[in-house]
Amino acid sequence: MAFDPQRRAHDLPADLAMALFRVSQAIGLLVRDVAGAHGLSPAQANALIFLRRGRPGVRNVTGVAQRLGITLATASGVIEALAAKGLVEKSRSAADGRVVSLALTPAGAQQAARLEAMLEPLRQILAGLAPDEQRQLQQLLARVIGGLVARGIIRPYLICWQCRFFRPFAHPDNPAGPHHCAFMDAPLPAEHTYFECPDAEPILEPLNSQ
Ligand code: SF4
Repeated sequence: MAFDPQRRAHDLPADLAMALFRVSQAIGLLVRDVAGAHGLSPAQANALIFLRRGRPGVRNVTGVAQRLGITLATASGVIEALAAKGLVEKSRSAADGRVVSLALTPAGAQQAARLEAMLEPLRQILAGLAPDEQRQLQQLLARVIGGLVARGIIRPYLICWQCRFFRPFAHPDNPAGPHHCAFMDAPLPAEHTYFECPDAEPILEPLNSQ
């Protein structure tokens, strides 16, 4: 219904939904163009970035499938293609020998770093907003994303500092890490707190739980 211009003329939420749809289309084009310039499909590019930014414990085919919203079979094909290009390597998980862990090769890490420039045009546009507008938009979008997560449409993939399970500096002298994850009930080293995590839950309340 948000696609109906007459509806959008008197239905602000529908107009906002269409605006977000157009932004998502633009992001899809940015991803496609940047990935293509590096000889990659959009899924391959997104998988490389996930393997750079995802929490180490979820860097496997299941994690890629969940992060990209694709089937396991498709994710497996994406990983095989990246391995064939020398960008990803596989190894048996030390914790569970049945799980194949994925890691970027040095070439894959370089490629992922280059790909991350894909959102720069959008960042530059947002930088044109006043700081208080940026903060307001950040909070509102976080609630919109929270609403999508609450409906099971996407997973949150927040970092620890945005997660309600995070207990910063809970045990500052613990050699395994000064922070704590209440979800895993485990210490967290500082360098792990900036990885994207599928188990995170946002601190903010989601918008519109109807
Ligand atoms: S559940 Fe939250 S606190 Fe735990 S690792 Fe994930 S993001 Fe960090």
